[in-house]
Amino acid sequence: MSAGSNQAALMVDRDPRRLAPAFAESVLRALAECNSSQNALGAMLYEGYRSAELQAMYYQRGRTVIPPLAPVTNAPTNLQSWHGYGLAVDIVHEKKYWSPPEGEKWFRRVAAIFKQHGCAWGGDWKSVDLPHFQWGLCTASPSKAARDLITSDGMQAVWSRLGAIDGKPA
Ligand SMILES: [Zn+2]
Repeated sequence: MSAGSNQAALMVDRDPRRLAPAFAESVLRALAECNSSQNALGAMLYEGYRSAELQAMYYQRGRTVIPPLAPVTNAPTNLQSWHGYGLAVDIVHEKKYWSPPEGEKWFRRVAAIFKQHGCAWGGDWKSVDLPHFQWGLCTASPSKAARDLITSDGMQAVWSRLGAIDGKPA
């Protein structure tokens, strides 16, 4: 593998076009509402789709080298996180990243809006993950069936099964 392609795989991906279409639409609508003149939360999509290479690095190090703070993951491969399926995003403050002006309250305000747009929030989990949102029709984490399906039939098959292409589960 050339250094160039390896580097590309290790960059944080915040391109909404790498996400499932219905999920991407929910995320973009929720972000627009977060950042409306009325709400002015200054929310940004920090990371969406996560490659196998980047997930492996996160898992090995426990944290990324990108400042100021880093997500920590329990998932050893990208198929154990919905990020690896284009079905999860991490939302942070555009200037303060993981330390928004009102702390957890800021994440709660963002979450209230994202939930109205069909997303589930990592802040509701026992192991709290405040910046994390995923498609509302996903299980908390990918099942063996989901891992098998993406391996055999690809990402689109999982999106279709979970209604993340047109909002209608297959
Ligand atoms: Zn996440």
